[in-house]
Amino acid sequence: MSKVYAIVLAGGTGRRMRSAVPKQYLMLAGAPVIAWSLMAFQKSPEVDGIVLVTAEADAKWVKNTITDPMHITKLVAFAPAGAERADSVQNGLNAIADEDGIVLIHDVARPAVTEEIIARCCADVRSYGACAAAMPVKDTIKVADDDGFVLSTPDRRTLWMMQTPQAFRLPLIREAYRKLGTTSDRSGITDDAMLIERFTDVKVRLTKGSYANIKITTPEDLPQAEILVDRKILS
Ligand code: C5P
Repeated sequence: MSKVYAIVLAGGTGRRMRSAVPKQYLMLAGAPVIAWSLMAFQKSPEVDGIVLVTAEADAKWVKNTITDPMHITKLVAFAPAGAERADSVQNGLNAIADEDGIVLIHDVARPAVTEEIIARCCADVRSYGACAAAMPVKDTIKVADDDGFVLSTPDRRTLWMMQTPQAFRLPLIREAYRKLGTTSDRSGITDDAMLIERFTDVKVRLTKGSYANIKITTPEDLPQAEILVDRKILS
C-alpha cells in the first residue's frame, strides 16, 4: 500500500507578524503554534509520515524542545526551508524517498486543522488526484485597480477561500514542481493547487475545510486562533 505523507511547512519568517520570534514558535493556548499542526497529523490515522520544513538553523532546537518531547513519532525527516514557500515545498518533496503515494502539504500557520479535515482531504485525493481544503467566501469580493478603486465584482457564488492541507498524488505534484523549476516566472505562487492548475490537466477538487481553520498572518489573528485551538481540544 502506498503511504500518506504530510509536509508541514514552518520555514517562514513571518514578516507580517511584526514579531522578533517567527510566528510558528509563538505560544498559543499553552503550546507553540507549530505544535498544533504536528499533533493533528500525528493523531490522524490516515498519515504515515511527517516531513517538517524549518529554517536549517532551527531544526536541532525544534527536535530537542518540540518534536521529541511531544513524541512526534511519525516524523521521518527535517527539510531545510527555502527562500520562497515553493522552495520549502520542493525541499520537503525531496525528503520523501517514495515514488508513489500521497502527500498533504500544510502551512503550520493554520494550527486549528483537525483530523476530520485531514481525513476529508485524504478521501478526495484518492478519488481525484489533487484536492485542497477550502470554504465558500462569506464577504463580497471586489477586484481593485492600483489606485484603490473598484474595477469589478466577481460572482460570490463562484469564490472560495483556499486553505491547507492541500493533497496530491506524489508523482503529480512532483511533475508540477519540476515544470515550475523550468519557468523563470515564480511570482504570485501562493498555494500548491495553483501549480496543478498551471502545469497539469488535472482538476483540483475543493474539499470542505472549516471556517475555524484560519491562518495566523498578523498579530490580530492570535486571540482568535487561541480560542479555536482551545475549542479543538474540547471537541
Ligand atoms: O508567509 P505565509 O504565511 O504565506 O507562509 C505560509 C506557510 O509557509 C507558513 O507555514 C510558513 O512557515 C511557510 N513558509 C515556508 N518557507 C518559506 C515561506 C513560508 O515554509 N520560505
